[in-house]
Amino acid sequence: MSVKENYTNVSSQIPANVELVAVSKFHPAEKIQEVYDCGQRVFGENKVQELVSKIPLLPKDIQWHLIGHLQTNKVKYIAEFVDTIQSVDSEKLLIEINRQSEKYNRKIKVLLQVKIAEEDTKYGLEIHEAKDIFSQYLEGKYPHIEITGLMGMATFTDQKTQVKSEFMILKSLFDELSQFKKLEKLSMGMSDDFKIAIECGANSVRIGSAIFGNRIY
Ligand SMILES: *Cc1c(COP(=O)(O)O)cnc(C)c1O
Repeated sequence: MSVKENYTNVSSQIPANVELVAVSKFHPAEKIQEVYDCGQRVFGENKVQELVSKIPLLPKDIQWHLIGHLQTNKVKYIAEFVDTIQSVDSEKLLIEINRQSEKYNRKIKVLLQVKIAEEDTKYGLEIHEAKDIFSQYLEGKYPHIEITGLMGMATFTDQKTQVKSEFMILKSLFDELSQFKKLEKLSMGMSDDFKIAIECGANSVRIGSAIFGNRIY
């Protein structure tokens, strides 16, 4: 199937109130352009260098999301244009995003990435750390950023009940924090588990291979 057919097929399975972030990592600008031409405007990349190299080749109205682990010393390369940083996994990183955001006179949107998977290979904040950071944010510690929601990844397994229970952990944290300040985005679900994620309350999904085909690592 072509990228265009894949895109049409994927978007038809996503309810109108759920944001689709097309994950274009490892795919060239021409393929991204094809998906853009279908109407998609929100794209996700997981590496700073790759993102920066694609920017000049693509339309300016793309909303770029950084979804992979971000090193503090690389925030400066994306601060001017990135729409949302979904992968905030430390206080140190948030401090730097706040600093760079001020420099560019912006209010960069961020999601706190929370560790919900059983696997210990994945980055993310522990729940108590996410709560601490969020309360410091509410007290005004990060005036130049906006925490718009939470992001999480489930364990890579075909055990649906496990995936579901991990997503529900993030959904309940989302509801808990939303009592203090309404959060907009609950980003969870990828090509293999986005349907479960949406059932569990995700309103933003990050889909790569189901649109672009398999990546060559
Ligand atoms: C690669 C990636 C995705 C997309 O994964 P697919 O299985 O290709 O849909 C989503 N989220 C993050 C954080 C990723 O790194």
